[in-house]
This record gives sequence, C-alpha cells and structure tokens, in this order.
Amino acid sequence: MRDINNVFIKTMEECGELVQACAKVIKYDTPEARHNLAEECGDVLAFIHLLQRSGCVETEIVENKSRNTILKYEPILEYSRVPELKISAGSSNLSG
Ligand SMILES: [Mg+2]
Repeated sequence: MRDINNVFIKTMEECGELVQACAKVIKYDTPEARHNLAEECGDVLAFIHLLQRSGCVETEIVENKSRNTILKYEPILEYSRVPELKISAGSSNLSG
C-alpha cells in the first residue's frame, strides 16, 4: 500500500471521530464533550495540513473553498451561537 494511503485512511478516521464528537456535544453538552470536540478539530486540521504537505491537495483550492464556505455559513452562525459553558465554581455565571 502506498504510504499516502495511510494518510487518507487516518484522515477518514479522524473525520469520523469529529462526527462523533459533534454528536456528543449535541447530546451531552459537557466540558469534556467540548474538550473532545476541540481535540478532534485539531486532528482533522492536522490531517488536512498533511494532505496539503503531501501534494495530494492544492493549498490554494483548500483556502479558497474554506473562505467561500465561511462566508456562506457565517450568517447562520449569528443566529445559532452555542452558550458558553461555565465550568469553574468561581465563575461570574454561578456566583451571581
Ligand atoms: Mg482523533
């Protein structure tokens, strides 16, 4: 098997883990679920970077598509912000 196939397989695995992490935040919005979501985002970003470094995907195309997708979906985000979790006992949300 070509070495690059290992990068494709790991990218697929990490995308699956990101899907599961999103589902857990929807179902159980806990600090742990959000921490795991952030970690899985990092894993997927890392493999996107590795795909770019390998030459399998063109960085310019990735960046242009990313920019356009952000412009498309940013208005939706304005109406669907997730409330910030207050996890420390001393936070202003819990004391007041
Ligand atoms: Mg992962």
